[in-house]
Amino acid sequence: MAEARRRYPYFALTDHGPQSPAASMTAEEALAQRAELRALERAGGPVLWHGAELCITPDGGLGFDAAFFGGFDLLIAAVHTRLATGRDEMTRRLLAAVEHPAVKILGHPTARVIGRRGALGFDTDAGFEAAARAGAAPEINAAPDRLDLSHELARRAVGLGALFVISSDAHDLGQLDNLRYGVVVTQRAWIPPERVINAGSTARLRHFLCKGRSP
Ligand SMILES: [Zn+2]
Repeated sequence: MAEARRRYPYFALTDHGPQSPAASMTAEEALAQRAELRALERAGGPVLWHGAELCITPDGGLGFDAAFFGGFDLLIAAVHTRLATGRDEMTRRLLAAVEHPAVKILGHPTARVIGRRGALGFDTDAGFEAAARAGAAPEINAAPDRLDLSHELARRAVGLGALFVISSDAHDLGQLDNLRYGVVVTQRAWIPPERVINAGSTARLRHFLCKGRSP
Protein backbone atom coordinates (compact mmCIF):
# COMPACT_ATOMS: atom_id res chain seq x y z
CA MET A 1 0.00 0.00 0.00
CA ALA A 2 2.83 2.41 0.81
CA GLU A 3 4.17 2.09 -2.74
CA ALA A 4 0.70 2.70 -4.20
CA ARG A 5 0.26 5.73 -1.95
CA ARG A 6 3.51 7.17 -3.15
CA ARG A 7 2.39 6.88 -6.76
CA TYR A 8 -1.24 7.95 -6.54
CA PRO A 9 -2.64 11.02 -4.75
CA TYR A 10 -6.13 9.54 -4.68
CA PHE A 11 -8.08 6.33 -5.10
CA ALA A 12 -11.68 5.54 -5.90
CA LEU A 13 -13.35 2.48 -4.47
CA THR A 14 -16.31 1.48 -6.61
CA ASP A 15 -17.83 -1.84 -5.61
CA HIS A 16 -21.05 -3.00 -7.21
CA GLY A 17 -24.11 -1.28 -5.79
CA PRO A 18 -26.73 -3.19 -3.82
CA GLN A 19 -28.97 -3.72 -6.86
CA SER A 20 -26.30 -5.37 -8.96
CA PRO A 21 -26.75 -9.04 -9.89
CA ALA A 22 -22.97 -9.49 -9.56
CA ALA A 23 -21.37 -9.94 -6.17
CA SER A 24 -22.38 -6.72 -4.51
CA MET A 25 -22.33 -4.95 -1.20
CA THR A 26 -25.45 -4.42 0.85
CA ALA A 27 -26.47 -0.87 1.75
CA GLU A 28 -25.14 -1.47 5.26
CA GLU A 29 -21.82 -2.71 3.93
CA ALA A 30 -21.56 0.32 1.65
CA LEU A 31 -22.08 2.70 4.55
CA ALA A 32 -19.58 0.81 6.70
CA GLN A 33 -17.10 0.98 3.84
CA ARG A 34 -17.62 4.73 3.57
CA ALA A 35 -17.04 5.20 7.29
CA GLU A 36 -13.82 3.22 6.97
CA LEU A 37 -12.63 5.33 4.02
CA ARG A 38 -13.39 8.57 5.85
CA ALA A 39 -11.49 7.32 8.91
CA LEU A 40 -8.47 6.44 6.76
CA GLU A 41 -8.53 9.90 5.21
CA ARG A 42 -8.74 11.55 8.61
CA ALA A 43 -5.76 9.47 9.70
CA GLY A 44 -3.72 11.19 6.99
CA GLY A 45 -4.19 8.82 4.08
CA PRO A 46 -4.64 9.79 0.43
CA VAL A 47 -7.94 11.16 -0.86
CA LEU A 48 -10.42 8.27 -1.07
CA TRP A 49 -13.48 8.67 -3.25
CA HIS A 50 -16.37 6.44 -2.36
CA GLY A 51 -18.14 5.20 -5.46
CA ALA A 52 -20.49 2.51 -6.61
CA GLU A 53 -21.04 0.74 -9.91
CA LEU A 54 -24.70 0.62 -10.86
CA CYS A 55 -26.19 -1.89 -13.21
CA ILE A 56 -28.03 -0.51 -16.24
CA THR A 57 -31.38 -2.29 -16.32
CA PRO A 58 -33.00 -3.49 -19.57
CA ASP A 59 -35.06 -0.29 -19.75
CA GLY A 60 -32.05 1.99 -19.16
CA GLY A 61 -32.81 2.55 -15.49
CA LEU A 62 -30.31 2.24 -12.66
CA GLY A 63 -32.42 1.02 -9.75
CA PHE A 64 -31.61 4.45 -8.43
CA ASP A 65 -32.49 5.49 -4.90
CA ALA A 66 -31.57 9.18 -4.73
CA ALA A 67 -31.53 9.26 -0.93
CA PHE A 68 -28.99 6.44 -0.80
CA PHE A 69 -26.88 7.04 -3.88
CA GLY A 70 -26.70 10.80 -3.33
CA GLY A 71 -24.18 10.02 -0.59
CA PHE A 72 -21.57 8.59 -2.97
CA ASP A 73 -18.74 10.66 -4.45
CA LEU A 74 -19.07 9.04 -7.85
CA LEU A 75 -21.37 6.65 -9.63
CA ILE A 76 -20.54 4.40 -12.53
CA ALA A 77 -23.23 2.95 -14.77
CA ALA A 78 -22.49 -0.24 -16.70
CA VAL A 79 -24.25 -3.01 -18.57
CA HIS A 80 -23.96 -6.46 -16.99
CA THR A 81 -27.20 -8.16 -18.00
CA ARG A 82 -29.25 -8.70 -21.15
CA LEU A 83 -26.11 -8.21 -23.24
CA ALA A 84 -27.62 -9.60 -26.41
CA THR A 85 -30.44 -7.12 -26.90
CA GLY A 86 -30.85 -5.43 -30.28
CA ARG A 87 -28.64 -2.56 -31.31
CA ASP A 88 -31.34 0.13 -31.03
CA GLU A 89 -32.46 -1.07 -27.64
CA MET A 90 -28.88 -1.22 -26.34
CA THR A 91 -28.26 2.29 -27.67
CA ARG A 92 -31.35 3.55 -25.85
CA ARG A 93 -30.24 1.86 -22.64
CA LEU A 94 -26.80 3.42 -22.77
CA LEU A 95 -28.11 6.87 -23.67
CA ALA A 96 -30.59 6.80 -20.80
CA ALA A 97 -27.83 5.77 -18.40
CA VAL A 98 -25.26 8.42 -19.37
CA GLU A 99 -27.96 11.07 -19.35
CA HIS A 100 -28.86 10.26 -15.76
CA PRO A 101 -27.70 13.35 -13.87
CA ALA A 102 -25.92 11.37 -11.15
CA VAL A 103 -23.82 9.21 -13.48
CA LYS A 104 -20.21 10.30 -13.89
CA ILE A 105 -18.72 7.30 -15.65
CA LEU A 106 -19.88 4.79 -18.24
CA GLY A 107 -18.17 1.59 -17.08
CA HIS A 108 -16.57 -0.81 -19.61
CA PRO A 109 -18.63 0.72 -22.46
CA THR A 110 -18.49 -2.25 -24.84
CA ALA A 111 -18.47 -4.91 -22.08
CA ARG A 112 -16.09 -7.09 -24.09
CA VAL A 113 -14.20 -9.70 -22.09
CA ILE A 114 -11.38 -11.22 -24.10
CA GLY A 115 -11.90 -14.92 -24.73
CA ARG A 116 -15.36 -14.84 -23.19
CA ARG A 117 -17.65 -12.45 -24.99
CA GLY A 118 -17.60 -9.88 -27.75
CA ALA A 119 -18.49 -6.22 -27.68
CA LEU A 120 -22.05 -4.99 -27.17
CA GLY A 121 -23.84 -3.93 -30.32
CA PHE A 122 -24.85 -0.28 -30.03
CA ASP A 123 -24.49 2.99 -31.89
CA THR A 124 -21.13 4.00 -30.45
CA ASP A 125 -21.19 7.48 -31.99
CA ALA A 126 -24.56 8.22 -30.41
CA GLY A 127 -23.37 6.81 -27.08
CA PHE A 128 -20.15 8.82 -26.95
CA GLU A 129 -21.86 11.98 -28.17
CA ALA A 130 -24.49 11.64 -25.44
CA ALA A 131 -21.79 10.99 -22.85
CA ALA A 132 -19.87 14.08 -23.99
CA ARG A 133 -23.01 16.22 -23.84
CA ALA A 134 -24.01 14.92 -20.43
CA GLY A 135 -20.53 15.10 -18.91
CA ALA A 136 -20.20 11.37 -18.21
CA ALA A 137 -16.78 9.88 -18.96
CA PRO A 138 -16.49 6.55 -20.80
CA GLU A 139 -14.14 4.27 -18.90
CA ILE A 140 -10.93 2.97 -20.37
CA ASN A 141 -10.94 -0.24 -18.40
CA ALA A 142 -7.35 -1.41 -18.08
CA ALA A 143 -7.95 -4.96 -16.90
CA PRO A 144 -5.94 -7.04 -19.42
CA ASP A 145 -8.89 -9.34 -20.13
CA ARG A 146 -11.17 -6.38 -20.79
CA LEU A 147 -9.43 -3.43 -22.46
CA ASP A 148 -12.86 -3.25 -24.02
CA LEU A 149 -12.58 0.28 -25.38
CA SER A 150 -10.23 -0.10 -28.32
CA HIS A 151 -7.93 2.76 -29.21
CA GLU A 152 -9.81 3.10 -32.52
CA LEU A 153 -13.13 3.58 -30.72
CA ALA A 154 -11.55 5.84 -28.15
CA ARG A 155 -10.04 7.97 -30.92
CA ARG A 156 -13.48 8.25 -32.47
CA ALA A 157 -14.91 9.30 -29.09
CA VAL A 158 -12.24 12.03 -28.80
CA GLY A 159 -13.58 13.51 -32.02
CA LEU A 160 -17.07 13.47 -30.51
CA GLY A 161 -15.93 15.51 -27.51
CA ALA A 162 -15.80 12.76 -24.88
CA LEU A 163 -13.90 12.89 -21.62
CA PHE A 164 -12.42 9.64 -20.32
CA VAL A 165 -11.39 7.95 -17.12
CA ILE A 166 -8.66 5.32 -16.93
CA SER A 167 -9.54 2.61 -14.47
CA SER A 168 -7.39 -0.23 -13.20
CA ASP A 169 -10.49 -2.33 -12.40
CA ALA A 170 -8.23 -3.63 -9.64
CA HIS A 171 -9.74 -6.27 -7.41
CA ASP A 172 -6.62 -6.32 -5.25
CA LEU A 173 -3.61 -4.07 -4.70
CA GLY A 174 -1.41 -5.95 -7.17
CA GLN A 175 -3.80 -5.12 -9.99
CA LEU A 176 -3.43 -1.35 -9.52
CA ASP A 177 -0.49 -1.54 -11.91
CA ASN A 178 -2.88 -2.59 -14.68
CA LEU A 179 -3.47 1.12 -15.03
CA ARG A 180 -0.49 1.21 -17.40
CA TYR A 181 -2.41 -0.76 -20.04
CA GLY A 182 -5.12 1.89 -19.95
CA VAL A 183 -2.48 4.59 -20.37
CA VAL A 184 -1.27 2.77 -23.49
CA VAL A 185 -4.80 2.87 -24.92
CA THR A 186 -5.00 6.63 -24.32
CA GLN A 187 -1.63 7.11 -25.99
CA ARG A 188 -2.56 5.04 -29.02
CA ALA A 189 -5.84 6.94 -29.26
CA TRP A 190 -4.03 10.30 -28.95
CA ILE A 191 -6.17 11.35 -26.03
CA PRO A 192 -4.68 14.47 -24.48
CA PRO A 193 -4.32 14.36 -20.67
CA GLU A 194 -6.82 17.19 -20.24
CA ARG A 195 -9.50 14.86 -21.62
CA VAL A 196 -8.75 12.25 -18.93
CA ILE A 197 -10.48 13.15 -15.69
CA ASN A 198 -7.98 11.22 -13.55
CA ALA A 199 -4.82 12.31 -15.35
CA GLY A 200 -4.61 15.64 -13.54
CA SER A 201 -4.71 17.09 -10.07
CA THR A 202 -6.99 16.04 -7.24
CA ALA A 203 -8.65 19.45 -7.53
CA ARG A 204 -9.48 18.88 -11.18
CA LEU A 205 -11.07 15.50 -10.48
CA ARG A 206 -12.96 16.96 -7.52
CA HIS A 207 -14.30 19.69 -9.77
CA PHE A 208 -15.48 17.09 -12.30
CA LEU A 209 -17.17 15.00 -9.62
CA CYS A 210 -18.88 17.94 -7.96
CA LYS A 211 -20.07 19.99 -10.86
CA GLY A 212 -23.84 20.32 -11.11
CA ARG A 213 -24.88 16.75 -11.76
CA SER A 214 -26.57 15.93 -8.51
CA PRO A 215 -29.68 13.79 -8.96
ZN1 LIG B 1 -18.93 -3.90 -14.31
